[in-house]
Amino acid sequence: MNHAALDGIMHPKAIAVIGASATPGKIGFTVLDNLIKQGYSGEIYPINPGEQEILGHKCYASVLDVPGEIDAAVVTIPAKIVLAAIDDCGKKGIKGLIIISSGFSEVGKRELEEQVVSAANRYGMRILGPNIVGVLSNSDKMNASFAPYLPLPGKATLISQSGALLIAIDASTYTRGVGFDKLISIGNMSDIDFADIINWLNDDPSTSCITLYVEGFKNGRSFMEVCRQSTKPIIALKAGVSAHGAAAAASHTGSLAGAAKVYGAAFSQAGVVQASDLDNLFDRTLALSLQPPMHGDNLLIITNGGGVGVLATDAAEKSGLPLKFAPEDVQVELKKHMPDFGSAKNPVDLTGMAGNEWYHDAIKFAYAHDWVDGLAVLYCETAVTDPLEIAKGIKSALVESGVSSKSVTVSFVGGERSEKAMAWLVENGIPAYGAPDRAINALAALREHSQMRKMVSEAILPCGDENRTEAMAVINQARADGRGALTEIEAKQVFSAYGLPVTKTQLATSEDQAVELANEIGFPVVMKIVSPEILHKSDAGGVKVNIKDVAAVREAFRTILANAREYNDKANIHGIAIQEMAPWGTEVILGSVNDATFGPTMMFGLGGIFVEVLKDVTFRVAPVSSSQALRMLDEIRGAPILAGVRGEDPRDKQVLAETICAYSTMILDLADEISESDANPVLVYAEGKGVKVVDARIILKKK
Ligand code: ADP
Ligand code: MG
Repeated sequence: MNHAALDGIMHPKAIAVIGASATPGKIGFTVLDNLIKQGYSGEIYPINPGEQEILGHKCYASVLDVPGEIDAAVVTIPAKIVLAAIDDCGKKGIKGLIIISSGFSEVGKRELEEQVVSAANRYGMRILGPNIVGVLSNSDKMNASFAPYLPLPGKATLISQSGALLIAIDASTYTRGVGFDKLISIGNMSDIDFADIINWLNDDPSTSCITLYVEGFKNGRSFMEVCRQSTKPIIALKAGVSAHGAAAAASHTGSLAGAAKVYGAAFSQAGVVQASDLDNLFDRTLALSLQPPMHGDNLLIITNGGGVGVLATDAAEKSGLPLKFAPEDVQVELKKHMPDFGSAKNPVDLTGMAGNEWYHDAIKFAYAHDWVDGLAVLYCETAVTDPLEIAKGIKSALVESGVSSKSVTVSFVGGERSEKAMAWLVENGIPAYGAPDRAINALAALREHSQMRKMVSEAILPCGDENRTEAMAVINQARADGRGALTEIEAKQVFSAYGLPVTKTQLATSEDQAVELANEIGFPVVMKIVSPEILHKSDAGGVKVNIKDVAAVREAFRTILANAREYNDKANIHGIAIQEMAPWGTEVILGSVNDATFGPTMMFGLGGIFVEVLKDVTFRVAPVSSSQALRMLDEIRGAPILAGVRGEDPRDKQVLAETICAYSTMILDLADEISESDANPVLVYAEGKGVKVVDARIILKKK
């Protein structure tokens, strides 16, 4: 998207308020009043055919009557007459429309909304909204909204999908002491969406951190792409994590892929830091907007109290930044700035006797030391120290250290004096929090940002084969038979076309043929029911493993058929699969969903019968490189099982990762065909021995 329309919306030189009103209480009045009284320095043109003048500004019947140029129009008229106003705006050469009016797709009037957008786009105009609060910008002193005042000035910019929340956040910026340059209400996202604005903010000199409140995207992949290219930290709070997962699903993966997990995966793949709740969004935004990223794992904590030091240590472990002891030379130097009973290990405890000087000297040394990547300074208010003096000591130590590329956060625990000292710190670019765990969590955000940026810059190399023709032949045959799911045999043929290692499998339609195939494949074999109507074969008594001889093949053939008929007498039975019996291995599940927002998405978890109970799974939007897949393997709670437990050899993680990578290539290439799929289980062998897919399921997309 070109920047002109968003330039027009974000800092217009002249702005029209269409539907400006002389009646206090009306939105058309509030917006105009906000623009005039809160310092907007551009031209302001009220538009209302029924008025001569409002709030001292000459009123025009149409934007076409305005003598000067107009960059943006704030639209506050009722939804049903918005369309009629678009033409005049287009003819006037307005660049962007901020449509505050509601009554569009959010109440089911999607068609009206689409008409408005296409009318505007015909003139090259872009639309923010409709159904929004507006745009607030401190750097332009522009309150083009019906929120009461500009937010506390700061370096972050918030894009919010909820209007009410935006107004509430606006007010709370002052009580929380977290400043924003802009608050942008995005509403129905009929035209301009998150990706457009993030792209624009990336070049906005007034924004150092992009903060998102997200309910849902229309196009997840374009969002990911823009975020990947961003050079600024982006942090998101995703709301509404429970609805999506409720949808009935045909595969294991489908039932395990909740919105929270898929969004979470997409955010991390796009380099977007996440917040756990609203408070956390503010805490992390403050750090990301004021501090450089934390480029390594070495966190040093300096404190005057053991208690907050321990709390911070716990928080560090929880936030993925476990503490290490400081190196010897660091300890020796720090020992000079504390009494004998202090500790220089980490946390560095300067003790309750610590005054400004000890803090100052310890910080100045530590911050400049090569070993330290990030610093958390904790302080408990004491009777003998002045919090503001401590704060000033911290600031000057940091400045004097000559270093500016490392992260630092601060926590003061105390009363009013500490509050004031923290406000001073924040004004001076140092994020400060009322509790030690919050300061640590904020540092962790700076670390996550740095780690994710590095990950995002890695190339995604494909794996496996891509024999699309072979796969499509199988899929087309199933579709021609009027089926929505492939049988295990067919699914394995598709998997195999993309280089996934599957067990040898053949279809037997008679007992004699079963014997013949078993001899051919070699004993022991596994026999399974093949029926499009029986997706979970064991449930139907349709799987027999470790069949060792001809007599057992004959017996299994009859039993499986009888079981299947009993289970579902209407099931269409293709026959019995005779398959190579894979040796025992660690069972994992690979699977995919075709997510409505992000498209083909991979899942990995520990397999077997408990997968749906334990839900120990992790997701990635496809494609997934082998190195990304290796990280997936480490993410699940059961990760140690793959490292080898109880004397077992470590499992072949490399081949498993390559299999995930190949699987992701397959679901991306067949995005129009596969709706859900899984390989459950995949048996993982010792290092160097690879993996084997012993069961496969593919549900086709409806066409
Ligand atoms: P379903 O999941 O439809 O019930 P599976 O094909 O997964 O059926 O088979 C059930 C279980 O039998 C698997 O979880 C696995 O433990 C075992 N199994 C299936 N096929 C093989 C095979 N070829 N080699 C070894 N074990 C197998
Ligand atoms: Mg299975």
